[in-house]
Amino acid sequence: MPGRPRAILILGGTREASELARRLCRREDVRVISSLAGRTMKPLTGAGEWRIGGFGGVEGLSTYLHDEGVNTLIDATHPFAETMSLHAAEAASRTGIPLLTLLRPAWERRTGDSWIEVGALKDAAFALPEGARAFLALGSQHIAAFAERTDAHFIVRMVDRPAKAPPLSSCELVIGRPGGTTASEIELFRSHSVTCVVSRNSGGGSYEKIEAARELGIPVIMIARPAPPPGPTYATIDALLAAID
Ligand code: NAP
Repeated sequence: MPGRPRAILILGGTREASELARRLCRREDVRVISSLAGRTMKPLTGAGEWRIGGFGGVEGLSTYLHDEGVNTLIDATHPFAETMSLHAAEAASRTGIPLLTLLRPAWERRTGDSWIEVGALKDAAFALPEGARAFLALGSQHIAAFAERTDAHFIVRMVDRPAKAPPLSSCELVIGRPGGTTASEIELFRSHSVTCVVSRNSGGGSYEKIEAARELGIPVIMIARPAPPPGPTYATIDALLAAID
């Protein structure tokens, strides 16, 4: 009788995680489960099996890995999803299940970029030029860090319309996922008279806003990444797939 197929759990929430699931699903000897936190109203699911919602900390994740017979854990979360990555490392160490991390390279400053590099959200709020019209390309849970900048106006892009208005004295919302073209980002920045962009150094896609800022000569307050999680990391899907036998 054939045994259970090898089970791989992908911690997702990024385009790369979806692409990785799609490519792993081509293998017939593997069961692919992808996990999303469930932050958006219409999560973008794809190939293989999906589960949505937190695991309940390291304990919950360890139990899930055991119950589902997971043999390989892949952390393909966003580079700023620090808690999930730490939980993954801890659960992998507790259960002895190998952990591979997909970590896309950070963006590098290029000629024409005007970046103000800061270490954390609160520093970004502090670094905003006085009276700025700032485009915030951040998750909704990070907006409150700018509440004290009552001199600034904010243009906030969110995937879903929030139930409550953001805690900012002057702001307007742009509802939609990132990922347009550089030209559409330029148009957006022009139409809202944006004078400054605040971004995390996510790397990978969503780079159009950075290119748009460069084209328009607008400064970008670039928030540096947290330290990478422990264990082997792979910069590309190909490199990670090559490490899975
Ligand atoms: P986080 O702070 O690292 O995680 C907070 C908690 O959310 C985790 O402890 C876990 O809850 C749950 N969680 C996070 N990712 C999960 C996943 N893939 N599957 C199941 N539960 C998950 O994460 P975050 O920064 O809020 O990001 C949440 C998700 O959005 C991540 O999956 C990430 O890939 C995606 N995302 C984040 C950003 C960003 O800027 N941070 C941008 C784009 C996409 P439990 O402790 O209950 O398990």
